[in-house]
Amino acid sequence: MSEEVLLMGPGPSPVSQRVLRALSRPLWGHLDPRFLAELDDASGALRLAFGSSARLTFPVSGTGSAAMEAAVVNLVWPGRRVLVLENGIFGERLLAMAQRAGGDVDRRSYPMGSPVDPEDVRRALRARAADVVAVVQAETSTGVKNDVDAIAALAREQGAQLIVDAVTSLGGMPVTMDAWQAAIVYSGSQKCLGAPPGLGPISVADTALAVRPEGTPVQSWYLDLGLIARYVGTERLYHHTAPISMVFALAEALRALREEGLEDRFLRHRKASSALRAGLVELGLASRVAPQDLLPSLTVVHPPKGLDEATLRRELLLAEGIEIAGGLGAWKGQAWRIGTMGESARLGPVLRTVGAIARVLRRGGVQVSPTAASEAATAAWESAR
Ligand SMILES: *Cc1c(COP(=O)(O)O)cnc(C)c1O
Repeated sequence: MSEEVLLMGPGPSPVSQRVLRALSRPLWGHLDPRFLAELDDASGALRLAFGSSARLTFPVSGTGSAAMEAAVVNLVWPGRRVLVLENGIFGERLLAMAQRAGGDVDRRSYPMGSPVDPEDVRRALRARAADVVAVVQAETSTGVKNDVDAIAALAREQGAQLIVDAVTSLGGMPVTMDAWQAAIVYSGSQKCLGAPPGLGPISVADTALAVRPEGTPVQSWYLDLGLIARYVGTERLYHHTAPISMVFALAEALRALREEGLEDRFLRHRKASSALRAGLVELGLASRVAPQDLLPSLTVVHPPKGLDEATLRRELLLAEGIEIAGGLGAWKGQAWRIGTMGESARLGPVLRTVGAIARVLRRGGVQVSPTAASEAATAAWESAR
């Protein structure tokens, strides 16, 4: 049996042959000028994807959660007033980190499947000013897009530093750090960027770290952005050994991103998610997210009624070689999460997925038409803009 799996979950996403080859390149040292040139090249492409001109833009050694932690521990210290906007488990993770960092943390929570309400944020900030506002742009636990443009405007009015989680958005939809005037935006390598898990791209506004008072060092030595800046910046001072092979892989994935261009890439994600949704509707699987809140990188639907959804997913994986994900938290057993991220945001993987779900449903006794589903998906791919 083939061990190859088509990764259609919420990450990791599939990795292209050229990125896999980059992983097997012979190693260079972390101070080799050729390695540093490649790291700089990757950082340049990350600035493009982040819509950022910030000097300190680089991949954190660690997954998206490490980049999240880097953002939080560098901007939150004891007594700092933090407002976390939470509408799913990644917002909750931000909240937990801000509390651990000793912040004076307020939260505004919104029901799973709903976006953050900017009017409510305005009221919350009027009731209590914040030094830091944190929000997830693309909430991967529910497939909901938050209106970061509106939230960033409110943070700016207040003079609050803004942290944006762009883990499931970077490389799949617009991320506009400079326009937001965000303090820190971070992501992960294994979602829409199309690299393996293990790096957390981050961009830190030039003035973001200057507000920390003297005598309150960042609680994490490893994730102290001021220290890491001395390695990734011009000084090239050793901090920790860079994960060389992972940087090669990310740099290669980012070369592919540059070659494609951001606009074409975003369009491809929109077309793939439209195609997937059209196919799933034809199979009787309705979206859990309202049309205006949909993500181009992740589709979340109600699982089939009357069948055990976990059994169906296992059959999809073991008999069809396709991985999708179930729900998290309150949506456990009540959602299917299917990604169109990076390399999976193409018509081929979408059609394979729709066809395989149709077969699994038919084996479970559900009357569906694989042909109608694939025709609907193809038509949606062709008409999406
Ligand atoms: C996946 C994800 C993370 C965490 O990334 P890991 O790579 O799993 O550490 C954080 N935020 C969002 C929105 C995510 O989708």
